[in-house]
Amino acid sequence: MSTKKVLQHVDKNMNVLVKDLRVLIQQPSVSAKNQGIKKCANLVRSTLKKSGINAEILTMKDYPPIVYGEVKSKKNPNKTLLFYNHYDVQPVEPVELWDEDPFSGKIKGNRIYGRGSSDDKGELITRIRAVASFLNVTGDIPCNVKFVIEGEEETGSAHIEEYLKKYRKKFSCDGVIWEFGHVDSKNRPIIDLGMKGLLYVELSLRESKMDAHSSLAVLIKNPAWRLVEAIKTLRDSSGKILIKDWYKEVQPLAKSDIKILKSFPFDEKEFKKEYGIKK
Ligand SMILES: [Zn+2]
Repeated sequence: MSTKKVLQHVDKNMNVLVKDLRVLIQQPSVSAKNQGIKKCANLVRSTLKKSGINAEILTMKDYPPIVYGEVKSKKNPNKTLLFYNHYDVQPVEPVELWDEDPFSGKIKGNRIYGRGSSDDKGELITRIRAVASFLNVTGDIPCNVKFVIEGEEETGSAHIEEYLKKYRKKFSCDGVIWEFGHVDSKNRPIIDLGMKGLLYVELSLRESKMDAHSSLAVLIKNPAWRLVEAIKTLRDSSGKILIKDWYKEVQPLAKSDIKILKSFPFDEKEFKKEYGIKK
């Protein structure tokens, strides 16, 4: 299978990619406002279909639909790669800070502007076009490919677990590639093979049953300070988490992991410059 020819096909058809991406950007899909979600799901399905990918819309209750796509490999039908992406975007507010209409997909120079041009319609379209190019040039793909494209990532993927349980068999695969990648400061395309999670908790504390004048601080404990003290017990100044058993199930890094991490192209100087970090 000639990957070179496939890559040439990608380059030659960049106009299709740009056009498809702009059409996607121009369809608002703000999950936080339930704006255009179903319309965008339909659009994603038709984009998959016209690229030669079998596609359907999966629904559950009144949840935002998941767009599912699939192509079977003739030569390598025993391995399956799943692309996870999302078609919803963050709200556009504050609108006055935009130079262009956030759903214009306007091209200026070498860039496309609009909500979702990067996270995550941009990444999604590159994957769709990659599959389309393989199909066009070789009539096949190197392994089975599945697409799971959800519509509520930006509001916390509240129902993905239910979807995963319901469509467990449909989504089964050997590996998942997460939604994004990026181009680093040296213009190298990067795909991350691992991701850290996040946990957030909300602490609330009430001392008196109503607002109290600051002069009463000598009599009523200030909940704000008590919260500061509580937060201080969560981690030490070096960042180590102090919660009991927090690290209990953490696996130490293998030598091979460290080797991979060390080879990760990270430019510390450039990074600090970008964020204005001094130390
Ligand atoms: Zn995203």
